[in-house]
Amino acid sequence: MSQAQLTEPTIWLKREVPGVKRTTVPTLTAVETEPSTECPNCHALITNTALNLNQYVCPECDHHLTMTARQRLEWFLSSIDSELGQEFTTGNPLYFVDSKPYPERMKEAQNKTGESEGLVVMTGKLKNLDIIACAFDFRFMGGSMGSVVGDRFVQAAEIALTENKPLVCFAASGGARMQEGLLSLMQMARTSAAIERLRLAGVPYVVILTNPVYGGVTASLAMLGDVHIAEPKAMIGFAGKRVIEQTVREVLGEPFQRAEFLLEKGTVDMVVHRHELINTTHRILAKLTKAAV
Ligand SMILES: [Zn+2]
Repeated sequence: MSQAQLTEPTIWLKREVPGVKRTTVPTLTAVETEPSTECPNCHALITNTALNLNQYVCPECDHHLTMTARQRLEWFLSSIDSELGQEFTTGNPLYFVDSKPYPERMKEAQNKTGESEGLVVMTGKLKNLDIIACAFDFRFMGGSMGSVVGDRFVQAAEIALTENKPLVCFAASGGARMQEGLLSLMQMARTSAAIERLRLAGVPYVVILTNPVYGGVTASLAMLGDVHIAEPKAMIGFAGKRVIEQTVREVLGEPFQRAEFLLEKGTVDMVVHRHELINTTHRILAKLTKAAV
């Protein structure tokens, strides 16, 4: 046997098979395989499932992320009976045009959010209590208060009054809606009058201030509650911080207009972590309505 014949099998075994390449499959983490959201505060990537389970609070830094109006009410209410105010639709009273016409801007907001307007109202139960709850959707033109937002809020307050049910409002707004001019500003008076009727009848109205609440909404329905609860670090004010700084020519520190700062100054009654919000609100409403806890 020749030397060549002896070494041949060894060479064949060592020979690389053409066309087959070794590839390493990287192990993907949950955030790479599932739809995820980046925390705007600490930039941690959190899967939407984890975020939902943690009530939209960042598990890394405890930042309270924005919830949509619908997410908010579906989370807050133990059961939902009906949605109110869907019959109100927005018109174009002033034929207002900024960079685009108002109806076009409305259409965009509706497509983006899936909502017909910036306030969602539902009736349902908060544990054992029958309540009416409404929530602003900040994604809908900055949660601005136009005529329909006013209509829906006033209707919610009137039903709360007739049926003697507490009213809860989750506020998140940039203020009045400039596209409706004076008609938008009138909603401040309308909503304030509706709240006054609740007050006279002894029907509880609780406001939960979420990040951010500004302008005409702060100057009306968001500051007229029997109890004002704020979420941690929510920005609450009338004019924005920068505008005030430019007016008073003074640099205002970090806590300015934060919920914790306003608690210190007595503008809000309590700052409550989202994980405790349902229990706290229920306890307050049960006390105010003298219901069994
Ligand atoms: Zn975070």
